[in-house]
Parts: sequence; structure tokens; C-alpha cells
Amino acid sequence: MEEPFVPRLDFARLYRRFDAPIAELDCGQMCAPHNSSGKPFCCDICYAVPAAYRPEWTYLRGNTDLWKEWRGDECPGEPFDPAEVWAETPEHMLLLACKGPAHCQRDFRSVSCRQFPFFPYITADSRFLGLVYEWAFEEVCWVISHQETVTQRYRSEFVRFYDEVLAQWPDDFECYADHAEEMREEFAARKQRIPLLHRNGGFYLISPQSERLERVAPERFKRFGPYR
Ligand code: SF4
Repeated sequence: MEEPFVPRLDFARLYRRFDAPIAELDCGQMCAPHNSSGKPFCCDICYAVPAAYRPEWTYLRGNTDLWKEWRGDECPGEPFDPAEVWAETPEHMLLLACKGPAHCQRDFRSVSCRQFPFFPYITADSRFLGLVYEWAFEEVCWVISHQETVTQRYRSEFVRFYDEVLAQWPDDFECYADHAEEMREEFAARKQRIPLLHRNGGFYLISPQSERLERVAPERFKRFGPYR
């Protein structure tokens, strides 16, 4: 069988160029009080399992002891089925577990930590338009309910990172295109438009059927759970 194509990526450089905090304030302090473990939800392995690119894992393994491969039995009374999580993990990635937020080494945060709660939105005609959020975390992530706090510097670094990676890695581009398609199906079923942090710096709502864009004030974005 032919080996899948893996681009040569310099993760030390990529990490340096995608390092801006998501907001001016520490959003972990906003969500952690709503988690019974007291941890920010995206740093809690029982809510979000970090994924890493395989070459990223090679870089991390050689430079820090912060991470190990996820076993799937880290959470007592697993809130999700590990077999399902593995099945949903694309071939070019693997799942990791860190030592916990108290031991975080900012320089060695994985890409999935840096991008959370966003992923690159790819239109049906294959354009990378900007940032959209992981809808499974609507009820727990404070940032999703306060996207106006996401800094322009973070947004630019996110876009620059994915412009570089997606241009070189067709498998990654395909994964995000599929994920965006799933999001359109989900929001079409809900009869809602998709909030987008556009790469041009604006806030937009996208129709999940036609992908028509409307520029809006960020206050038009919905809020969820305890952040309403
Ligand atoms: S990104 Fe969301 S889940 Fe993660 S610390 Fe900030 S508010 Fe909490």
C-alpha cells in the first residue's frame, strides 16, 4: 500500500508563529468554575482529548515529557466511548494526554490546544474562509459565547498557520472540509446560521445551505449554557 503523503513541517517554527493567547483575559478562569473538576474544559481530558499531527508528536516527544499517548482509560466513568474517539481520529493524527493544566508548558502546547475551540472553515467550493467553533463545546466553552473577545492577533496567527499547513497537506484539508460539511448539516437541521470569524477580521453569519454571508455585529452571535 502507498504511504500517505506527509509534508515536512517545522513545528518549533510553527509553534512560535501560532502562540498568541486567544483573548486578553484568561478564559480558563471563566469556564473552570463551571466544571466539577475545577479545570478549564479544554484542559480536561474527560471533556476534550487533544489530537496531534504525527510529525508534531515526533517533535513533542523529542522535546518535552509533558505528553504521552492517550490510552482511553484516563477518566473513571468515561463520558465518551474511547473506541468511537479513536475511530473518528484521522490517520495522520493521534491522540495525546498531558500531565494536566497545573503542569502546562505553554511552549509545548499542541496545535489542538492552540486552536481550541476553533477549526478552519472550508466552503463547499474549497475556500478556507476563517474560524468556526467546535459545536460540541457550545455549552461549556466561554469563548464560544464571547467570540468578540478573540483578539485580531490570535485570528491572524490562526489563519497564517492554516494557510501554510493546509496548502501543503491535502489530507488535512480534506478532514477540515468534511468537518465543515458536517457543521453545515448540523446547523441546517437546527435552522441556524453558522457564526464565522472571517479571515478579513469581520464577524459573519453563514447560511448552511447557500453559504451566503452576512456581516453582523458580534453581539448577534448566540450565547449558551451558563454564559447567556
Ligand atoms: S477555550 Fe473555552 S474551554 Fe478552553 S479555557 Fe477558554 S473558555 Fe475554557
